[in-house]
Amino acid sequence: MRDSDTPLPLELALTIRHDGNGGVTDDLDHAAALEAWVRAHPRTHPAPDTFTADETDLAAVHTLRTAVRTLFAHAVRPTPPSPADASRLLPLAEALRRLNEAAARTPTVPVLDWPDGAGPVSHRQPAPGEGADLTATLAHATITFLTGPDRERLRACHAPRCVRYFLKEHPRQEWCKPSCGNRARVARHHERHRRAG
Ligand SMILES: [Zn+2]
Repeated sequence: MRDSDTPLPLELALTIRHDGNGGVTDDLDHAAALEAWVRAHPRTHPAPDTFTADETDLAAVHTLRTAVRTLFAHAVRPTPPSPADASRLLPLAEALRRLNEAAARTPTVPVLDWPDGAGPVSHRQPAPGEGADLTATLAHATITFLTGPDRERLRACHAPRCVRYFLKEHPRQEWCKPSCGNRARVARHHERHRRAG
């Protein structure tokens, strides 16, 4: 599996997904699954290939993910959140507390970079002597994402059965992918016929 350009917090949110049968499944439901996810997303860790997770690590990622999905639900207002966990979201203050607590596990310092032919850019990296904590890395990425331009493009897909958050690529996009658009059109068509009949 190749690491994609999808922002990390979105990748994390998408580990809760539709199971194909009208229910919801969790890609991170045991520690080995978390290890595989980190290897598939090497941006999450300085040594993804030797990363190991136990139940405590898994619980920490679940705690953070609930906060991220709550903040995503907040970001897509006034449209409704993903139906996967709409009834289990945290109060906003609690989501912020969990996110900031995770971010604080790895103190970072600002780093200036000035690539050839471009303007100076800054990013943050773990302070000298600090190891990188997985949930801290994910929390830092979430802070960057929510305070950056991509937040405005975040949407919840409300096609039948879909529970995905996605980034809108063009102004009229309503669904996360064409197959969701097709399902939504078929459902609307049936609904019209039901009412007409
Ligand atoms: Zn969808």
